[in-house]
Amino acid sequence: MPEPRRIQPLPPELISQIAAGEVVERPASVVKELIENALDAGARRIHIRVRGAGRQLIEVADDGHGIPADQLPLAVARHATSKIRSAEDLFRIMSLGFRGEALAAIGSVSRLTLTSRPPDAAMAARIRVEGGRQVGPVEPVPGPVGTVVRVEDLFYNVPARRKFLKKPATERRAIDAMVMRYALAYPDVRFRLEHDGRLTLHTPGRGERRDVLAALYGSEIARQMIPVLSEDPDLGLTIQGFISPPGLTRSHRRDMLFFVNGRPVHDAALAAAVLQGYQNALMKGRYPISVLFITLPPEAVDVNVHPTKAEVRFRDPDAVFRAVARAVRKALMAHAPLAADGSTLTQWDVIRPRWATPAQAAGAPRADVPPPEPPTLEPLPELHDATETDASVPQDALAPAAEPSPAEPLLRLVGQVAATYLVAEGPDGLYLIDQHAAHERVLFERLRAQWLSQQPASQRLLEPVTLVLPPHQARALEEQLDTLRALGYDIEPFGLNMFRVCAVPALFASQDPTRAVQVAVEDIDEDETPLAHAREERLIARICKGLAVKAGQRLSPEEQARLLQDLLACENPRTCPHGRPTMIHIPVQALERQFGRLGPR
Ligand code: ADP
Ligand code: MG
Repeated sequence: MPEPRRIQPLPPELISQIAAGEVVERPASVVKELIENALDAGARRIHIRVRGAGRQLIEVADDGHGIPADQLPLAVARHATSKIRSAEDLFRIMSLGFRGEALAAIGSVSRLTLTSRPPDAAMAARIRVEGGRQVGPVEPVPGPVGTVVRVEDLFYNVPARRKFLKKPATERRAIDAMVMRYALAYPDVRFRLEHDGRLTLHTPGRGERRDVLAALYGSEIARQMIPVLSEDPDLGLTIQGFISPPGLTRSHRRDMLFFVNGRPVHDAALAAAVLQGYQNALMKGRYPISVLFITLPPEAVDVNVHPTKAEVRFRDPDAVFRAVARAVRKALMAHAPLAADGSTLTQWDVIRPRWATPAQAAGAPRADVPPPEPPTLEPLPELHDATETDASVPQDALAPAAEPSPAEPLLRLVGQVAATYLVAEGPDGLYLIDQHAAHERVLFERLRAQWLSQQPASQRLLEPVTLVLPPHQARALEEQLDTLRALGYDIEPFGLNMFRVCAVPALFASQDPTRAVQVAVEDIDEDETPLAHAREERLIARICKGLAVKAGQRLSPEEQARLLQDLLACENPRTCPHGRPTMIHIPVQALERQFGRLGPR
């Protein structure tokens, strides 16, 4: 039997490092803690400078109340805080910080310099910490009122942690998302974020949340967002913020943001409550953009659940969730009132905004939006190329005229059902074709062929259009500019998160050019791995998915015929680029069996 190993107390620095692991997971967590400290200090201006995606440098400067020189050693010590004094305080926390461990934790896994000057001090003072140990004395230095925290070489002494960092683009995106959350929560604070000397985000600090939304998501989305405001005096609960109309959605929940008493939180149940508020208005697998601020008495919520303070526990969770669902519902109803006949939202109403033209979308202020009309015929994007108009489509286009690929049966179009599926007859039975998946496949193969040809057909715009993107999407777009050029786009960055679109692939000539660009950076997965080619193909698939005709869009007979014909001409007509089937085959025998013509016998 092996001898028992001796139990020994851990050295203090190791204890700090272990504790730091809970608070400081990645550069974005440092940013979070430093912003919270600045906000707790009453800052009106917070500047964040980042180098090397946060590994080289994170510097947060604020104009808050500062720290007196003699308290600097305490500020970087563990479990030292100015924010709570007693256990009771834990249950009525009004500040963002309270655990007194962030600076100590950060200092134990980096080289930290804290410089601060309260308004009544003549000079600033500075303290330095390396790997948890104070280096040199507290020194007076010149500096403005407020605090600057510099964190260099994050995780230099914790190689294991360093290995777990994601690629720089991902860490940068996490930082952007973090700053964005606080910028939304504190619209009267001016935030400024720089990566490697480049301004990435800045908010005016005028106290207007819509300003911040515009800085983050672009003015178009900001304009479309629906305000939410609900109060429940019994609970002392207020819910305010913005939600997107049902036509403006994402394929992920990352843009569903929640804040409880000014603190960003992750809470799946809150997200579920919002979705419930939308009832059936959202398509399956689609999620709204929502930014909701929930305020309730501090004793009704426990924020001391997790070291990162990103989770909370409500005293009466069900009441809070019900209130959130109701608030969302109410805001949506105010936005799109019941139809005149008293019927509730139909599916058409709900689906329609997805293909509203920019002009429709940009329409009148939402209070007097006319009741939705049934969907109109919209041209299929690439069906309207310069050489052909609807009128010139010959009647016999109803049958696939072009040579279908030999492997596929010749299909005769029967029509469209539910504005979503094409019905066709083949020699061996019935075919149901998912129009969106089919169109995705058609576009994908064409755009891919353009890319492989290395001479993509490009359509210059008469007037370049300008596009403002949220910071993380702007970054993603920049990273993809070369590939996009190889697809026939011509996009120039100019200004902060702004781009000039000068040309789009000819394939999308009839689409709204801003949309044709936006789809390239919407719904990007957190960790897209750039395998050779796979990356381009994914981009191509994403663009085509975004621009393909949607379910619920009624197509003219000519458009149906053209889509069927194009699909049959594809190399892989049976699946969409994401691998889902484009068509379902029902053999004649199956029909006969169903009708009892062909007994089991
Ligand atoms: P906590 O925020 O939980 O109190 P921290 O380790 O983050 O713990 O900070 C320790 C203390 O240092 C705070 O309680 C506060 O008094 C002081 N402090 C930290 N950052 C700032 C800042 N930017 N401005 C003023 N005081 C600060
Ligand atoms: Mg703190």
